[in-house]
Amino acid sequence: MKIFQITGLNFNNSNNRQKVAELKSMAANTFTPQMRPMLNRDTVSFTAKKIPSIMAPTMEDLINKTKASDILRFNILRLAKYDIPCPVCGHIMLDLDKYNAFEEKIMSTTDPTKILKYIGELEKYLHPIEAKIFDMMKTDNLKNPKETLHDMLKSRLADSESKIVALQTQILGNIGLFSHNLKTKERKEVQNLLNETFARIIDPRETSRFSRKIFLTKIKNIFIPEHLRANLKLKFIEEFDSMYKGTEYYTEENKADYINKQLAYTIENWIYTSEQDKIIEEAVKMPKAYNNIDAFIVKYAKRDYKRANPDQKIALRMLSNSLATVEHIKAQNSRGETKPGNLSLECACDNNRRNSDNIIEQISENPLMPFNYKKYMKRLCQLHLDNNVEKSFITQQNKTYKEESYGFLDANLSILSKPRKKVSKIKEKMSGTPTKAERRAARKLKLKAKKTKFLKSKHSSNRRQPPGL
Ligand SMILES: [Zn+2]
Repeated sequence: MKIFQITGLNFNNSNNRQKVAELKSMAANTFTPQMRPMLNRDTVSFTAKKIPSIMAPTMEDLINKTKASDILRFNILRLAKYDIPCPVCGHIMLDLDKYNAFEEKIMSTTDPTKILKYIGELEKYLHPIEAKIFDMMKTDNLKNPKETLHDMLKSRLADSESKIVALQTQILGNIGLFSHNLKTKERKEVQNLLNETFARIIDPRETSRFSRKIFLTKIKNIFIPEHLRANLKLKFIEEFDSMYKGTEYYTEENKADYINKQLAYTIENWIYTSEQDKIIEEAVKMPKAYNNIDAFIVKYAKRDYKRANPDQKIALRMLSNSLATVEHIKAQNSRGETKPGNLSLECACDNNRRNSDNIIEQISENPLMPFNYKKYMKRLCQLHLDNNVEKSFITQQNKTYKEESYGFLDANLSILSKPRKKVSKIKEKMSGTPTKAERRAARKLKLKAKKTKFLKSKHSSNRRQPPGL
């Protein structure tokens, strides 16, 4: 028998699209007549009790066909059709059905004017850099309707490339200057890293392969050397042993979880010297295709599209970052489970960028996340009031976010207890770009969070917290 896998992370190829279609038709054929309306209606059941109840009567038939977790992911993904803002970046997420229809249209033509028209139909889902690229392409297209999108990018390559190299060099130069006051060993290591990075940047074959993330990690590794991390780990093992040995909480799983959390927390709250701090803040400014238009142009003008049509690939890329995906709030490699309370929606861009980061790291990379998270939760609450999503899905999700962020992400869910009809009419302003005031508030909040995080965790009732932290 065939095993269906809907990962929720990789829907941008026709193979997966076919699997979704297969799953849908299989569901239609396998489920009993009473269950069919449940699958087709817009309200999605999320509670641990309700998901198996959809499956239970035909579990034996299904056991090798569809995993319960796949249905769960599929149901959560379906929520994206209600235009939900991403909890990380705040941009409205694109749902799979709209993306699939878009892909079908794109793959049916190579005419730049038509391709741009199809992108335009989904304009509100474009992320900021993609929106700028789209405007640029529309202008080019008016002048010369035959010019391909790839040629539009290539015509700007030289210019963008020199801008990017200038920007990167400037950042590296600043880091070099800031490193003068570091201790000798650290300074030498930072300068070696700068040389290595500079060589990578000016090498034409390597430009697109510069990884900001690896660069940042390397810098942090210089400041918190491996032997120090090893010592920290030993300290946390001792701490856990002394607190929980002999209790039912003392399992290998909880121990590993505790150590990982404490390590991540300690590194995130590591008190860097002001010189080290300046260097990290500067390194974060390194341009990437998702946040810098020149980086986008360089990357996709130079890309080797093999035998595929570059324009079609570029068009798909314009919207693939906006695609809604299912995210494990507590990452799977930190033993995060695939259950409703640990799953949230997140745009593909943020999901890919996150890798195995924990929530604390994700917030530090995305200082506006606390605001966007509230927007996301507010939208889910509205959907609940309109009877489109279950309350428990929202409350459980918020609980997990709260735990994983040490109380930092916590939405006000009091709206859930309001009468449904009244509130359902409230239209929410969902602008993708934060206002100046929001940015300012986010910066303040970040500073405040750094200062109060220790206090917060002390008061948290989470029993995994060591008493002394
Ligand atoms: Zn996002």
